[in-house]
Amino acid sequence: MKYNFLISAGLVVSLSLLVSCHKEGSNQQEYEPVIIVSDWFKVSYLGDRIYCIEEPKSSQGNVSYLILGDDRALMFDTGCGENEVKGNYKIKYIIDKITTLPVTLIQSHFHFDHNQNIHEFERIAFPDLPELRERVSPESQFQFTQADLFEGNYPSEIIVDEWFPLETDIDLGGQVIQLVHVPGHSDESVAIMIPSSGIMLLGDFLYNGALFLFRNDDLAVYQQTVDHLNSLLNSEYSLFGAHGDPEIEFGQLQKLDDFLSCIEEGICPYTERSVWGRPAHIYNFQDMHMLVFQQD
Ligand SMILES: [Zn+2]
Repeated sequence: MKYNFLISAGLVVSLSLLVSCHKEGSNQQEYEPVIIVSDWFKVSYLGDRIYCIEEPKSSQGNVSYLILGDDRALMFDTGCGENEVKGNYKIKYIIDKITTLPVTLIQSHFHFDHNQNIHEFERIAFPDLPELRERVSPESQFQFTQADLFEGNYPSEIIVDEWFPLETDIDLGGQVIQLVHVPGHSDESVAIMIPSSGIMLLGDFLYNGALFLFRNDDLAVYQQTVDHLNSLLNSEYSLFGAHGDPEIEFGQLQKLDDFLSCIEEGICPYTERSVWGRPAHIYNFQDMHMLVFQQD
């Protein structure tokens, strides 16, 4: 979730695509990235068959990611849905230009601004978290709650096709990823770690923009997750977030650690604000900002 929440409407722009020829060989050294030109999506190639799909004109500044293997592709988030509101731009249309592989969607977390194109995906994976397993019916149906989505009521219900284990190699075919549980922004939040590329996709846990915490208790959870990330990562990793400028300087993770310590010690300045009618503390630490909703 990004600080600028307002969804404006009315801007209609046209979509154009230029697609270069490409091949999907098993040897990724030979892989030739697809070039996409779109009036809505900004598609960048990160290397190693990993694409970054930004929506710079969206109110949330969404960033989603597409990871290709030899056998299947994985989509990480699908945006806030303004692509359809403002010009009927389908995110799957972009993906189909990049790959013919079967695509599985996994969300970094369930907030409304990460799943509004979920209906375009035939296959959905969830992180294998006990609290999510408990909520799935014998028919594999999962009902999103208002608390899950934070805003709005879509999606209401989906079928979970697959459970991805945590911190276990998931082989997409010559492309191995791991899912890492990163609670703090929300309980079910996950990151995707790609060790062979030194890439970590952090969702809303850390991105270039004000971070959102929904309970005071989440401050301690955030700290635990930072500690865990520090045990998994080193400064060779490139970090990417789900809003704003995609790449995050690695030093921001240490800064977040220091920021949380500053709040924990009670010495971090903050202002009190009402945000969407709810009381919040807005903390500032160097160039980082954190909004923490206060319990009524
Ligand atoms: Zn969020």
